[in-house]
Amino acid sequence: MPRPILARISLSALSHNLEVVTRQLKPAAAHRPRPLVWAVIKANAYGHGILNAVRGFSRADGLAMLDIDEAVRCRQAGWTKPILLLEGFFEPDDIAILEQYRISIAVHHQSQLDMLSQARPRQPIDALIKLNTGMNRLGFPAAQYANAYRQAIGLQEQRILGSLGKMTHFARADDDAAVTREQIDLFDNMTRDLPGKVSVCNSAGTLTAGLWSTLEPVEQWIRPGICLYGATPFDDKPASDFGLLPAMTLSAALISVRRIEAGAGVGYGHAFVAPEAMTIGVAACGYADGYPRHAPTGTPVCVDGVMTRTLGRLSMDMLIVDLSPAPQAHVGSQVVLWGEGGPSIDAVARAAGTLGYELMCAVAPRVPVVVV
Ligand SMILES: *Cc1c(COP(=O)(O)O)cnc(C)c1O
Repeated sequence: MPRPILARISLSALSHNLEVVTRQLKPAAAHRPRPLVWAVIKANAYGHGILNAVRGFSRADGLAMLDIDEAVRCRQAGWTKPILLLEGFFEPDDIAILEQYRISIAVHHQSQLDMLSQARPRQPIDALIKLNTGMNRLGFPAAQYANAYRQAIGLQEQRILGSLGKMTHFARADDDAAVTREQIDLFDNMTRDLPGKVSVCNSAGTLTAGLWSTLEPVEQWIRPGICLYGATPFDDKPASDFGLLPAMTLSAALISVRRIEAGAGVGYGHAFVAPEAMTIGVAACGYADGYPRHAPTGTPVCVDGVMTRTLGRLSMDMLIVDLSPAPQAHVGSQVVLWGEGGPSIDAVARAAGTLGYELMCAVAPRVPVVVV
């Protein structure tokens, strides 16, 4: 029998979360269409599996990712709606693949315009021209944006590019509305007179009422990622506040239960010392499974439906749990590390000083996955 550990991916949670996000996208005015949704599925759909995302997000208007191979897999799986590469392409040879599989691109750098100008695709490629409004990661600086967009229109006239749009990315949509407002104002000012659709919002922007809807009445595409998997982009607002459901549940079983005396040290470095006699258990999950190694004593975990905590330092393949609140627990009892029936992935991430984003992407290939 394989080690008793399992990641369960819920397709119904993926589609439920997409529904939650879509439902709150009311058009800014009655005569305007509602914004369209790129479901962001980069990094193997945040660890949930590209093909699961294709199924779970079948009602999304498009899929967005970084990896051209993942884009091709979506097409091969039967996805016919738009696909966007958020970093665009990296070398001239990519352009033939973009054309063959009808993949749209973000264009964020002059080097990409230069490569496109040398290309002779038979079908024009749809593109969003990215403006740096303050994230300072990708995108043309404001002073160069109009020129870059003019070049893109030139490529469109040569039928190298197809439809064009305007794009930016927020740096602080999760914690600073004033900074985000400055980014939106800069975006509006720079793009108002340029034709094409608009795409600005990640999850935090999408879930913050009003951020997306204040833009010009053009075709808008939002780009939610983390919330579609049932985790929160915010420090102070849990995913459950939005009605989001965890799409990934990581569970294991107890493989050992023992009684220890007061003063006994537990695990490597004896980082936890029992203040009194207590019962502890060992779950078949360690950092080599993707559980965060920095999770300290007290990280929430659920055993047989009872919330309890981890004890001491995590090992490569095991972690130790406090069975004081679950005295009935036995070898074989179910341990939910995060997800349905356990702590939220965000609560575990917070305890370990990281983010739900990192944990869901980091579940190791050796963990078996079931899709429900
Ligand atoms: C990852 C990403 C998103 C989605 O971000 P979330 O915080 O997961 O919603 C949107 N846009 C771009 C450009 C991204 O890289």
